[in-house]
Amino acid sequence: MRMPMFMLQYLEDSPELDRLDLQAVLEKLRRALDCLPLRSVLIGWRLPPGWLEACRQVCQQAGVRLLRWHPLLTGDGVFMPRPQWQTLGLDGAPIAGFGGMAEFTFVCPNHPEAAQASLRHVEEICAAGVYDGLFLDRIRFPSPAADPLRHLGCFCPHCVRRAAQEGLDLQEVQQHLRRMTETPQGRVELVGGLLAPAVSNSPQTQALEALIAFRQRSVADFVARAARLAKDSAMEVGLDCFSPALTRMVGQDLTALGGCADWIKIMSYAHTLGPAGLPFELLGLLDALTGGADLPQTDALQLLARALGFALPPDRRTLQNAGLAPQALAEEVRRGVRAAAVPVLAGIELVEIAAVAHLDETGIAADVRAVRQAGAAGVVISWDLLHIPLRRLEILRRVWLEDSSAEREL
Ligand SMILES: [Zn+2]
Repeated sequence: MRMPMFMLQYLEDSPELDRLDLQAVLEKLRRALDCLPLRSVLIGWRLPPGWLEACRQVCQQAGVRLLRWHPLLTGDGVFMPRPQWQTLGLDGAPIAGFGGMAEFTFVCPNHPEAAQASLRHVEEICAAGVYDGLFLDRIRFPSPAADPLRHLGCFCPHCVRRAAQEGLDLQEVQQHLRRMTETPQGRVELVGGLLAPAVSNSPQTQALEALIAFRQRSVADFVARAARLAKDSAMEVGLDCFSPALTRMVGQDLTALGGCADWIKIMSYAHTLGPAGLPFELLGLLDALTGGADLPQTDALQLLARALGFALPPDRRTLQNAGLAPQALAEEVRRGVRAAAVPVLAGIELVEIAAVAHLDETGIAADVRAVRQAGAAGVVISWDLLHIPLRRLEILRRVWLEDSSAEREL
């Protein structure tokens, strides 16, 4: 059996960190390393003094690589985005971050000052020589799912200029899309077009296609520049990407992104009600269809399922409470593997956070089995060991390592 790539996300920035005891934090890490043959730990970007070195020693002793989990297009406490660097939506206003949070407020990769400041910071991190690699997160445009009429960008002057150099009139695109949002039918086409190319070939759907391709080029170029800095320092590069059905919507092209990384994690969070979680993003689109476009719920769910290419729960409530089936996860992994030439790891949310993720042990085992059989190179334990009961790592070990060896013997 090919050795699975197991990785672990740990210590995301949070005020909670300052209240924790370092010894307890290290003990949990050691116990996770004992439980699973981990290849890498992806460690948070802002740790209390002394913690990084302590975690590094634990990883080193266990022969595990330490990568920095790094938000590239939002702030990390050192790189401080300025309001004027923010992406601009269809209405020309800055696109607010999820919940108004700085860590979910995006700068435009085409803004020269923002780009320079972000890359200079990456350069400093690489030069410090502390990490074995970079795990780049927040490599996208804001998700338009929550409010497709206002959160689809970017139409800032720098994007307009770059698009013009590529032969695209972005202001004309903006006008087409604004017209599209004026009618219920147009809003339906907009939401459908975010997930899959439209069947119709109207100037408006062509404008949306052009914008999507422009966003994908913008993100891929910027990530390539950051990845180059890491490679120049002999560091490995992993990328945190949306689940394949949703990458198009946020400006990610897994094929292009795979070209500048060593591996890709897809955030195939089937049960998460937070940014990048499949139910969260799909509920946003569903509400845009039923609210903004006056579509009955059953029709809206059918439209989404067709565009996504996998089945959805029968109603909004089930999507919210139960999330997606293992078959949908398997389809997402197969797509990721087809799209990217590098290993694709399934990000599985194992956290126990009330009102954010609903999980039970049978469901976790079914999800793990589905992504393994679909060809994932491994699993990234997401999104923070801090909130994960160790028992769930044992499920992962049992289903991936022991079940697959039992299947080989049959
Ligand atoms: Zn822009």
